[in-house]
Amino acid sequence: MTDVTLDTISNLARKRGFVFPASEIYGGLRSAYDYGPLGVELLRNVKDEWWRSMVQERGDVVGLDSAILQAREVWQASGHEEVFTDPLVECRECNSRFRLDKLDDPNQCPTCGKRDTFTDPQQFNLMFRTHMGPVDSDDNLIYLRPETAQGIFTNFENVRRTSRLKLPFGIAQLGKSFRNEITPGQFVFRTREFEQMEMEFFCRPEESPEWFQYWQEERFQWYLDLGMTESSLRIRPHDEDELSHYSSETVDVEYLFPWGWDELEGIANRTDFDLRQHSEHSGEDLRYFDQEANEKFFPHVIEPAAGANRTTFAFLIDAYYEETVNDEIRTVLKLHHRLAPYKVAVLPLSKKAELIEPAEKLAAELRKRWIIELDVTQSIGRRYRRQDEIGTPFCVTVDFDSLDDGAVTVRDRDTMSQDRISMEGLIGYLDQKLG
Ligand code: ATP
Repeated sequence: MTDVTLDTISNLARKRGFVFPASEIYGGLRSAYDYGPLGVELLRNVKDEWWRSMVQERGDVVGLDSAILQAREVWQASGHEEVFTDPLVECRECNSRFRLDKLDDPNQCPTCGKRDTFTDPQQFNLMFRTHMGPVDSDDNLIYLRPETAQGIFTNFENVRRTSRLKLPFGIAQLGKSFRNEITPGQFVFRTREFEQMEMEFFCRPEESPEWFQYWQEERFQWYLDLGMTESSLRIRPHDEDELSHYSSETVDVEYLFPWGWDELEGIANRTDFDLRQHSEHSGEDLRYFDQEANEKFFPHVIEPAAGANRTTFAFLIDAYYEETVNDEIRTVLKLHHRLAPYKVAVLPLSKKAELIEPAEKLAAELRKRWIIELDVTQSIGRRYRRQDEIGTPFCVTVDFDSLDDGAVTVRDRDTMSQDRISMEGLIGYLDQKLG
């Protein structure tokens, strides 16, 4: 692993088209980001891999896509309206505001450096508020969801009835959430709009400790399977005073970011808190009926909740290498093949029509299978370097010999070794390599 700073990654992300500051032509909107052509592919691949492992490859988890806007009662029942808060302090000297529990020194202002200038902490609610319909009145107050989980709980009975699943089973959801964070920062690590990947796994109450353990192992392994460095990953149990209002036990999967260990994903035992609350507030009986045992009860819930943007960011950091090759520094993103934005780059050696034509034909064939790029600019060396820097696993060069032997050179990003492969066999070769 190469030691990497936040600046190195955010510069690369901007330079190569992974992530741009939102509203940049107007000076940017603090803490909001847009994903460029490469970033959108990487983010989408991360989400697809999550969906593949959490839904597609399992028989006991189904998907859901619930609305971002829900009835206000949902957030009253879930406790978010009352207690989804962070402690806010303000510096009396420079008026900067901070989240108290994230300050390195709770008595010193990081902006002006003065000591003992903070106000007493106030509880600040993180939900974004807006109004539904044309009238801005309290009756029309509505929130942007701060987590996707509640849409799952309110649909528990709908999904159970229509999917005919029996306990234990899970409901997975991937989508945007919004939190009016007091101190966003560290690039895309903490933003006010972000995507979550959450799964609520419903089980018999007495089985919840076993499933809590199971999901920690599953989720940890997911990061490893996608190539994350094991020594940069750990599981950290929450202290009692860190627990969310709904949780009896939580661990975080943490990654060693450039600024230290920080959360990638939380795995919580939410007990029967949410189903019980929604039953009481809505009057709908959300208990589960076990036919064999002839009993009704509230299932307990284990929730692995990850952030798609944070995870994408961690994969970028983890994949970043600087290597010395022939006395030059080569920057390479060794992203897992499944995560790489472009799987293949097709590079005709010259801009002459006799090479462009077969290169375009080849590119059109490859596009049916993968997201690829056809790059005809600059020297071949510079084009290789660009593809290394954006993590493209294979470069396919069409040269003048290709016109005679019907073969191309395939260069491997990680080993830089080159194979001569017939154009006819190219798809099969890449298919096998890309997995
Ligand atoms: P933190 O303590 O960092 O504020 P949290 O413990 O409140 O996060 P959870 O409620 O457990 O976060 O949310 C689950 C996941 O959603 C987090 O692990 C993270 O990956 C992602 N997430 C939460 N808040 C943000 C945010 N502001 N920006 C980006 N991702 C976020």
